[in-house]
Amino acid sequence: LFLLLLSLSSTTTNNLVQGFPASSSSLYTSADSGVNILYTTNITDFIVNQHQDGRKIQFIQFFNTYCGHCQAFAPLFKQFLQSTIHRWSNVVDFAVLDCANEVNADACRHYNIELYPTLRTFWLRPKLTDLGEDFPLHHWTSAADLRQSFIGWLSDQYEKHNINDIPKHWPNFLPLKVENKEQLFEKLDIDNDHRPVLIIVEKNDSLFGQELMMNFSLHTNELRIFRMEESSDNKHLLQLSDQNQSNALEKISLPFLYVITPENHQIKVIPKPIMSDEDDGIFMTKLIAKDFVKNYDHEEMNLKKTNDDETLPDQSTVVVKYSTRIYMSDLHNAIRYALFHEVPLKQYLNQEQTNSLIRLLNVLYESFRFQNDKTKQFIKHFHDWLVKHSNRNARSSRSGKSSLHNNDMVIDTKDMLTTMNMYEEYYHFPEQKPWKACAVISDGYHRSYPCSLWTLFHVLTVAEYRRTLQTKQWLSLHPTLYAMREYIRNFFGCTECSMHFTKMSSMLENELTYPNSSVLWLWRAHNRVNARLKGSRSEDPRLPKRQFPLYNECNECYRKQPPDDLNLWKNSTKYIEYYDETKILQFLVNFYASERIILDDSEFNDQQQQQQPQQKQPLIDFDHPIMITDNDDSVTNHATKPRSKILMLVSSPFTQTDINLIFVFYVVSIILLLSIFVYVRSRRNIFHKVFNLNGKQRVY
Ligand SMILES: Cc1cc2nc3c(=O)[nH]c(=O)nc-3n(C[C@H](O)[C@H](O)[C@H](O)COP(=O)(O)OP(=O)(O)OC[C@H]3O[C@@H](n4cnc5c(N)ncnc54)[C@H](O)[C@@H]3O)c2cc1C
Repeated sequence: LFLLLLSLSSTTTNNLVQGFPASSSSLYTSADSGVNILYTTNITDFIVNQHQDGRKIQFIQFFNTYCGHCQAFAPLFKQFLQSTIHRWSNVVDFAVLDCANEVNADACRHYNIELYPTLRTFWLRPKLTDLGEDFPLHHWTSAADLRQSFIGWLSDQYEKHNINDIPKHWPNFLPLKVENKEQLFEKLDIDNDHRPVLIIVEKNDSLFGQELMMNFSLHTNELRIFRMEESSDNKHLLQLSDQNQSNALEKISLPFLYVITPENHQIKVIPKPIMSDEDDGIFMTKLIAKDFVKNYDHEEMNLKKTNDDETLPDQSTVVVKYSTRIYMSDLHNAIRYALFHEVPLKQYLNQEQTNSLIRLLNVLYESFRFQNDKTKQFIKHFHDWLVKHSNRNARSSRSGKSSLHNNDMVIDTKDMLTTMNMYEEYYHFPEQKPWKACAVISDGYHRSYPCSLWTLFHVLTVAEYRRTLQTKQWLSLHPTLYAMREYIRNFFGCTECSMHFTKMSSMLENELTYPNSSVLWLWRAHNRVNARLKGSRSEDPRLPKRQFPLYNECNECYRKQPPDDLNLWKNSTKYIEYYDETKILQFLVNFYASERIILDDSEFNDQQQQQQPQQKQPLIDFDHPIMITDNDDSVTNHATKPRSKILMLVSSPFTQTDINLIFVFYVVSIILLLSIFVYVRSRRNIFHKVFNLNGKQRVY
C-alpha cells in the first residue's frame, strides 16, 4: 500500500508539469491594441469568411515569440497598431499569429511562412486558396515610418487595381485634376454637399495627404478630404485661390491645405507653418479633428509621438543572476521544439535541409546522453527514416516520378510528422515541460527556446571533445558545429539571428584546427552575440547580457580583470588579452559536462545503469579542476529544486517530493502503530475487567 501510494504521488506530481510550457505566452494580447489574435482554428474564418463582403483588406503579422527581432519589433508594431487599428478600420483589419505556438504550426505551414516576422496582406474577397502577398520589410525606426510604408504600399495597390474595384467608402487617393475654381466646385458638388472639404496640396511623391485621408476614413459623413499634386507651373493652384492670396501662395512651400467651407464658398489656405516641421501625421490629424470632427477618438489623439526611448521597457527592475544549472528537461524541450515544431513549419524539405536535419540527428545520437534509451531509439529510427526517404525521393525526382510538387523537394513534412508521431508512440520522446534554467524572467522576453538551443550545442560540443580525448580519434571533423551551423541556417526561426550566425560561421573550416576548437569557437561566438545584443531591444533588463563566464564565476579563467561593458568582444582580438583559453576550456568542459545535467524526474532514467562503469574514468584529467559555484538561488523560476549536486556521477532515484513523502509516511506509520498498540492494550484491560467480574483469576 505504501509503495502504491508513493508511486501514485510521484505520478501526480509529474502530470502537473505535462503540457505546453507556461512561457509560451505570446508577444501580443488583444488588450494591447485590440489587434485580432489568430490561431490555426480561426485564421481561415478571419481571412476568407469574415471578408467576403469585400470592404476591407487584411494585414497579418506572422511572428515567432522566440525570435529576438520579433521581440524588438513588437513595441514599434504595437504603436503602429495603436495609431491605426481604429482609425483605418474601414479599410484594413490587422491581426497577428504566433508561429512559435505549437497550435499554430498548421497555419504557418499552410501560409508557407519562412521568415519572421512576415507581414502578409490579403486583398479584397480572398479565396480559400489565397496565400496572400508579402509586405516588404524595412528597418523601420518608428511607427510613423511603418505607417508611411503602408500608405505607400496601399497607394501602389490603387494603381495596380481597377479603380472601379476599389470600395466606394475608401478614401480616394487619386489626385484632383481641375483648372479653376468653377471646375473644382462642380466636381465637389459644393451646392448640394455641405460637408467641409479639405484639399491637401503636396508633391507627387508625398504620402502625407493619403495618411490624413486614412486617418479620417471613418468620418467621411462629416468631412471630405482630397489631394492635389503640384505641377510644373502650379497654375491650377494659383487660380483656385483668391486674388489676394495668390502672391502669398507663390512663397508657400508644400504641403499646404485648402479649406473650403460650403456655406460661403470660400477657399482658405492654411500654409505649412501651422503644421509642425516634423509632422508625422498625428499633429495635423489632431488639428483637423479639433475643428471639423465632433467625435474623433479623443483617447487616440493623446498618443505621444513615437519615441524609441519610450518603447524601451522599464529599466528600474531588479536584476537576477543567470542560472548555472543545466536541466535535462530544458535540453529535451529544445530538441523537441526543433524537431517537432521548428523543422515541420516548412511544408517541404529540400535536399540541403534534409541533409542538415540528418546531420543534427546523427550528432544527437552520437554525442547526447539521453536520459532514456527509448528516446535515443526514437532519434535513430527517425534518422533512418529520413535517410531512406530522402534517397528514395531523390531517385524518383531524378527519374521525374516524384509525387512532390517540385523536384527539389525531398521530404513532405506532413509525412515526416506522421512518422515522428508514430515513432513517438512506439519509442518515446519526452513531452514539453516548463523551462527551468531558461525560464522567462520578464514578460515580453521569451528566452526559453534560443537559450536552451545554445545550451544544447555547448553540451554537444563538450561531449564531442571529451569523446575525442577518450577515443584518441580525431578526424578533424567537428560534426557538431557544422550541424549547428546548418541547422541555424536552414531552420532557426529568427531570420536575422540566422543570417548573423551564418555570417559569423562562414570561415569555420579555417578556424577549427584542434580537437578543442569547437568548444572554444562556440564560446567566443556566443559571447560575441551577447555583446551585440547588449542594450538592444531584445535584452531583458532584468537579465542583462554579459560575458561568460563572469570574473566572479571563474577568476582563474582571466589573466586580468576585464571591463564589464562587453566592448572587448566587439573587437575580435582584444578579448585575448583578458582570457586564459586553457582555463576557459577546462571551465567549459566542467560546466557543460553531461554529468552536471540535472535529470528530469518525470522521465524514466536509464542513466543509472549507464553511469556505473563511467565512474571508473575520471571526468577529465585536469591538473587543477575549476570549481563551479552553484549560485543561482536568486532565480526563482525553477519549478523544482535540483536533486543532484554538481558533478554528480550517480543520480538518486528519488525526488525531493518523494523523500518528503517517505518521511511523512514514516511518521504516520509510527503514529498508527502506536495507536494500534494503545488500542489493543486498552481492549485487553477491559476484557480482563469483564473477566474478573465473572470471578476468574487474572493470569499473567
Ligand atoms: C545561434 C543563435 C543566434 C542568435 N542570434 C541572435 C540575434 O542575432 N539577435 C537576437 O536578438 N537574438 C539572437 N539569439 C537569441 C539570443 O542569443 C539569446 O538566446 C536570447 O536572447 C536569450 O538569452 P538568454 O539571456 O536567455 O541567454 P543565452 O544567451 O541564450 O544563453 C544561454 C545560456 O548560455 C550561457 N552562456 C552565455 N554566454 C555563453 C558563452 N559565451 N559560452 C557558453 N555559455 C554561455 C548563459 O549562462 C545561459 O545560461 C540567437 C540565438 C542563437 C541560438
